[in-house]
Amino acid sequence: MGIWDDLSKTITNAANVTAQKTKDIADLSKLSLSLNSKESSLTDLYTEIGKALVEDFSEQAPAELAEKLQQAEAIKQEMSDIRKKILVLKNIAVCPECATENELAAKFCINCGTKLAEPVAQAVLVDEEENVFEVVEDKIEEIIEKAEEKLDAVFDKDDVVEDAVEAVQEEVLEEKTEE
Ligand SMILES: [Zn+2]
Repeated sequence: MGIWDDLSKTITNAANVTAQKTKDIADLSKLSLSLNSKESSLTDLYTEIGKALVEDFSEQAPAELAEKLQQAEAIKQEMSDIRKKILVLKNIAVCPECATENELAAKFCINCGTKLAEPVAQAVLVDEEENVFEVVEDKIEEIIEKAEEKLDAVFDKDDVVEDAVEAVQEEVLEEKTEE
């Protein structure tokens, strides 16, 4: 075998190795995609099973789950409150009979004609709007507080850095005076 044969063999081998590596990477990413999709299917299934169990067997739930069930109930209540606030802000009144969305000012449901509780809705509107602003204000206050905490932490760090720089400067000065 001549030198050219060896060279061409080496090149072919290198090309094969590269092709194999590319294929491996493609296979790997396919497999991890498939794993991710299986994982999310499993999570969906667990969620469905959990919901069904909560709906049908929550009274028989073991004690260690009671607290979590209470938390879930509280979150559901909060979600319902938030939904109401959204409807009020969107100027919508939902019919209690058929769940059709009507204008807040409507006296009767446009779908089934059920009388809508208009005066109450108006009172709720003002009340709920104030609540929404209160919630927003509280959130803003919370954010400002956190930002101030972060700023304080940064300033503390600045002090540490300053002290360190001063210490090094002093050391250098001392060494220079000794020389
Ligand atoms: Zn209706």
